Order: sequence, then C-alpha cells, then structure tokens
Amino acid sequence: MPIHEKSLIRPENLREHEELVIDGMDVSGHWSTFIEGRSVSDYNEKMQEEIAALPGGENIHRCWQCGSCTNACTVNAVNPDFNPRYWIYLIRLGMEEELLRDKDIIWQCVSCNKCTDACPRDVVPEAVMHATAKWLELKGHTEKKPSTHFDEGFSQQVIDTGMIEDGLVMRDFFTRMKNRWAPFKEPYLVAMIQGIIKRAPLGYLLQMFTLLVFRPRTKGWGPAKAGIMEYIEEVEANNRKALGLPAEGKH
Ligand code: SF4
Ligand code: SF4
Repeated sequence: MPIHEKSLIRPENLREHEELVIDGMDVSGHWSTFIEGRSVSDYNEKMQEEIAALPGGENIHRCWQCGSCTNACTVNAVNPDFNPRYWIYLIRLGMEEELLRDKDIIWQCVSCNKCTDACPRDVVPEAVMHATAKWLELKGHTEKKPSTHFDEGFSQQVIDTGMIEDGLVMRDFFTRMKNRWAPFKEPYLVAMIQGIIKRAPLGYLLQMFTLLVFRPRTKGWGPAKAGIMEYIEEVEANNRKALGLPAEGKH
C-alpha cells in the first residue's frame, strides 16, 4: 500500500532494509519500506462525544477527512506536525494516546480561520481546535497555555469594566503567567512590543500608561456584568458536566 502521509507514521514503526533482494529485484533502502503492524486496544470511546459537547466542537462528526483544513492551515505551513485533519481523525476514532503525543502544539492554532473557509462540511475546524485544547486542559493533560491566560485576562477585563485597554490586557497577561518573564523569550512578542514602542504615537503611549493607573469603566455596566457572569458559569458548569468532572466552586 502506498504511504500517503509518511510524516504521520512514527519512526519506530517504519522498517527499511539496507540491502534486500526479492525474486531477483533489488528493493534496498526506501524501496523496501514497511509499516510495522500494531493493534490499538486503549480506545476512549467517549472522546468525540466529550469534545463535541464543548463550545466549538459541535460539528466534528461531519468531517469526511478531505484534508482541505490542513492544506489551508497557516500553522501547518511552518510546522507540518500541526495537522487539524489528523487530530479530527484521531478524535473520531477515540485514539486518545495518539492525540496526546501532540498535546503541546494543538493550542498553537492562531484562529486565522483559513481552515473554516476551506472546509466543505462546515466542521469549523478552528473551533474544533479550541474545543480540543480546552478538553486537554479540563482533563488535566495540559497546563493552562499562554493563549488561555490571555483569553481569560481579556474576558475578565471586559466583564469588570465593560471596555478594553491594551496596556491593561498586557499587564494582566503577564500577571497571570506563572513565570512572568517567559513571554519575553517568545520572539514574536518581543518584536510586537518593540514595534509598539517604536511606532506608536507618544500621545497613545502616555494614554496607555495613564489608563494603567486610572482604570476607566463603562457607566451602568453592573446589569450587563451580572448577565455575562451568569452565562459564563452556566457554560463552564455544562463543560465540566459533559466531561464527567465535578462542579467547580464559583470564582
Ligand atoms: S484557524 Fe487554526 S487550524 Fe485553522 S487554519 Fe488557522 S491556524 Fe490552522
Ligand atoms: S476540511 Fe473539513 S471535512 Fe475536510 S478534513 Fe478538514 S474538517 Fe474534515
């Protein structure tokens, strides 16, 4: 059988003979590549159901494995291991152990939605990636990722004040990180901060620092805040229930 996606086969499962002649035919080297047989017994039959129950995972059952999402994916273009089609395949089959091998890169989806545009089945792969990353966190397979810290800080600011201030979002993001200096090791973040300092007008920078001290709020925001909080608690309770996890105390 031809090997369509050799990169997806673990190196330990590939066999090659340096010198091999079969019926007088020299099939040495890659001509004699075989895939080691294996059997999988540790299926998680509930995995698709659990991820489908999280926001964004609803349409995962529609996937027909055409691969258009991976073909269009921004992150796959720089890292071939980032493969939404393959992860959806593993989830649908319940192959949890295989999925866990890639648990540290699934969160890296940049939400460009090129996959969503390309998908002929309205699976919304972008949302499935986020539901999968959330599932990994809720199951305790991964720690909270920088993107989760950022999303939580961003949402909390909207909930608390009814508005967004860039400086406060960044300050909150660094405060939430266990290792506050870790983001500064990320080249893209360093470039972004350097860009802001170099190009932003002085008035904007002064305003940003002033707002760090005097946190403005939207007038009459209280009822909206209460409504948002109620909704969030409902969604979080549903998420935990879908995964069979105990309810969490109110935050
Ligand atoms: S939204 Fe995520 S999965 Fe989809 S193309 Fe962009 S980076 Fe890839
Ligand atoms: S583009 Fe849609 S249908 Fe095709 S593999 Fe990706 S998620 Fe599945």
